[in-house]
Amino acid sequence: MRVLLHMCCGPCSTYPVQELLEEGVDIQGYFYNPNIHPIEEHKRRRENVEKFSKIKNIPVIYDDDFRQTEWEGMKGMGGSRCLHCYSVRLESAAKLAVQKGCDAFTTTLLVSPYQKHDLIKELGEKYAAQYGTTFLYRDFRPGFRQGQQMAKDMELYRQKYCGCILSLPVK
Ligand code: SF4
Repeated sequence: MRVLLHMCCGPCSTYPVQELLEEGVDIQGYFYNPNIHPIEEHKRRRENVEKFSKIKNIPVIYDDDFRQTEWEGMKGMGGSRCLHCYSVRLESAAKLAVQKGCDAFTTTLLVSPYQKHDLIKELGEKYAAQYGTTFLYRDFRPGFRQGQQMAKDMELYRQKYCGCILSLPVK
């Protein structure tokens, strides 16, 4: 089975990639995260996905869309901004999966215990139905700590915040 894997960053990719490869999945990576700010952080996470995917020999399609002002405009929206953030990325992944002839798509966001897991699943399934593909749902969360250790061993950069300007730690 060929699966388009939306990759949010290097560390979150480690465990899902290991699991999918063990299942015999043929992975096509996809880096598309216009939510990540500032631009230096966006570049750093992209470089880490490149570093990781070279180690694992996984092909990755990179989309460098960067939309800081869009997320800056979400001040006061609280957690509901995350719905938009997941939607933008998952809709794009669903479309690309169809374009590239993949059997399904999924996302490394499903590994993080800090993300809104059920919402990601719901949106993945919604866009799969909309574009005529399948959302490969997996609960990767039990492997989160193992994945972080793998990232440490590979000397990947491990960020301290989710990604958007509104999630930046207050100094
Ligand atoms: S907190 Fe994370 S998921 Fe929510 S909008 Fe910001 S980057 Fe996206």
